[in-house]
Amino acid sequence: MKDKVIIITGAAMGLGLATAEYLAAKGAKLSLVDYNGDALDDAVKKLKEINSEVELLTVKADVSSEEAVKNYVDKTVETFGRIDGFYNNAGIEGKQAPLTEYDQEIFKKVIDINLMGVYYGLRYVIPVMQKQKYGKIVNVASVGGIRGVANQTAYVASKHAVSGMTKNAALEYGRDGILTNAIAPGAILTPMVAEAFKQVNPDDPKAAETEYAQRNPTKRLGLPKEVATVVSFLLSEENGYVSGQTIAIDGGESNMY
Ligand code: NAD
Repeated sequence: MKDKVIIITGAAMGLGLATAEYLAAKGAKLSLVDYNGDALDDAVKKLKEINSEVELLTVKADVSSEEAVKNYVDKTVETFGRIDGFYNNAGIEGKQAPLTEYDQEIFKKVIDINLMGVYYGLRYVIPVMQKQKYGKIVNVASVGGIRGVANQTAYVASKHAVSGMTKNAALEYGRDGILTNAIAPGAILTPMVAEAFKQVNPDDPKAAETEYAQRNPTKRLGLPKEVATVVSFLLSEENGYVSGQTIAIDGGESNMY
């Protein structure tokens, strides 16, 4: 990954930050995108501690705004001259509620960020990669992009869409040297998942977490670094022929009947 130019959306926390840390240590040049400017500043400090020489660009952007997405792509090309890898990661969970009771404003927000945000990213990054005749893309789906997850209709709909778009991008741009995959993490301990356990059991989120982990074949939740290592492989030249796949990173749980 040395000197590879990688865009990471949702880079300030959770899975985005964990991958930024992993790639910074390997000497990649990182374009960090997030709508939380303060958290982005904190992320820069952490990354400089890992590698004081790391070349970073930060762009504050809401990925549900097409204009903001075009801007982060343009800024990355202005700064680094190319885009080798794109970790299309920013996303939200929305609120937990049964399908017929789901708040429609929140539903639309989840779709705007998780589906349209990923789509805009592909729309503006792919033409840059086409000119280079090279590029690696990792979209972030979820096990909710492979299976149903009760009380999360908007999230599940958006993540199935991400998995579908991934297949199409792989079909349409493989000829341009662009490999596109999605990852489908299970429950990985990030701020987003901590918030979900608070919704499940506001009095004792830790109990909800422990109970949830018991269903997993490994009897534990995943760690952000265990996602970062897979993303790093998919974004690297080591990946020469994997494309159009949605790869579960869930300790095997999604195979369970
Ligand atoms: P997180 O909430 O811990 O971090 C998400 C980051 O994205 C934050 O820094 C947030 O500010 C940023 N972000 C959110 N919406 C944004 C927007 N509209 N524009 C720009 N930045 C935005 O979440 P996470 O757990 O790291 O999740 C990252 C991705 O992984 C999401 O797409 C999520 O759906 C997916 N995912 C996570 C898990 C998990 O277990 N953590 C499982 C499956 C899928």
